[in-house]
Amino acid sequence: MNLKKNNFIAKLFKKKPKLEPVIYDARASELWPTNFPSHVLKMIEALQRRGYQAYIVGGGIRDQLMSLHPKDFDLVTDALPEQIKKCFDRAIIIGKRFKLVHVYFDRRDYIEVATFRQDHSLAKHKSEGALRQGGIVSRDNVYGTIEDDALRRDFTVNAFYYNPGTHELMDFSNGIKDFQARILRLIGEPDARLKEDPVRILRALRISNKLDFTIDEATFKAIPQHIDLLSSIAGGRLFDEYQKILLYGQAEKNFDSLQTMNILPILFPTLVISLKVSWFSEMVRRALRNTDERYYAKKTINPAFLIGVFLWQELQACKKKLAETMSYKKAYQDAVKITLGAQNKITSMPRFMTEMIEEVWALQRQLELRREKNILGIVNHPRYRAAYDFLLLRSEVGQVKSTLCQWWEKLYLMSTNDRAEFVEKLLDAK
Ligand code: ATP
Ligand code: MG
Repeated sequence: MNLKKNNFIAKLFKKKPKLEPVIYDARASELWPTNFPSHVLKMIEALQRRGYQAYIVGGGIRDQLMSLHPKDFDLVTDALPEQIKKCFDRAIIIGKRFKLVHVYFDRRDYIEVATFRQDHSLAKHKSEGALRQGGIVSRDNVYGTIEDDALRRDFTVNAFYYNPGTHELMDFSNGIKDFQARILRLIGEPDARLKEDPVRILRALRISNKLDFTIDEATFKAIPQHIDLLSSIAGGRLFDEYQKILLYGQAEKNFDSLQTMNILPILFPTLVISLKVSWFSEMVRRALRNTDERYYAKKTINPAFLIGVFLWQELQACKKKLAETMSYKKAYQDAVKITLGAQNKITSMPRFMTEMIEEVWALQRQLELRREKNILGIVNHPRYRAAYDFLLLRSEVGQVKSTLCQWWEKLYLMSTNDRAEFVEKLLDAK
């Protein structure tokens, strides 16, 4: 990183700002504009052309400074959501907790553009920055200046504002110092910041693991006292965080952090009990490793698959117990509902994902039974590949024979005609 201080620009502010940033000349650093996607630069230009301030912030800058591949780019501006929308052809305003604009740069992908916001405690009216009991922020749709916006961000290294037009990087919280020392530090008073939003605990673990930074001492000490507050976070938000923690690389490392910090019992309570079964613990470990390998190999990752693995042992235990008093079929059906229902209360998944898990689970028995009449239906099932991968995991930990997986793989690799012929022969042989 080669950033030069360039603070004479700060002195040009007419009014003395509440918080004076250190301004760096980023020209010789990793933040050279061509290192950013052209659609991001165009969006910044579009806002600036209409007289608004516009910056790239957050993980996109932090990761770019580390020469890591940023997951996404976040933009901030002093334009209000309605004004942002007018700057682009394809933009929609979203959000209940706070309004944001999604600007689409192709059919499916968008960049999130936010208006500068301030901390809830600075809100002038109760309705603008309501607090739930216990101090957790429930609404913080309060617009502010760039200084306000910098202060309400979580970590010092997440509060850099980069203007690709002028090559300036603004740092309001000594983030560059922390960045150079590889420290992840909450802005402000750690207890208050974690109480305000306990999800920052999960973000601290994830971001420190991703960057290989040390969580600063005060932040680290404050974490254990606020872990219980995570259970009050909405299921949808926890599911989003689950995805960020486990599906974007570092799944194994992040999972270990969740275990050591005693957060796993809050996110996946039944998993903690299931992990005492050694073959299952090995199955989870392998699934985490596979997820990381798939991520780094840029293969698709099915977000439901890992949760299906996490709940597999609990499903078996629940089914076994229920089958003492009812038919196997009914016990299985009830166990699926109970297991998924309990998890959904914590990390609520979209319906199509629970359906996906149900299908992958249901296919396990069918893959084991190999009923001749079903075989072509199974191999052509939209969830076949996920179900096969699940079977393979089970075979790797000795729960099903590896010859069973080989049999299915051989069939899968056949042409459609050969498959039909193969099944025909099986039926004839009966
Ligand atoms: P990544 O995109 O790699 O997951 P990120 O830090 O960019 O990491 P985002 O969720 O994209 O994470 O958030 C963008 C920025 O918004 C963050 O860098 C941070 O400045 C701010 N932010 C996000 N979540 C919070 C939070 N819970 N509290 C305070 N600021 C937050
Ligand atoms: Mg981001």
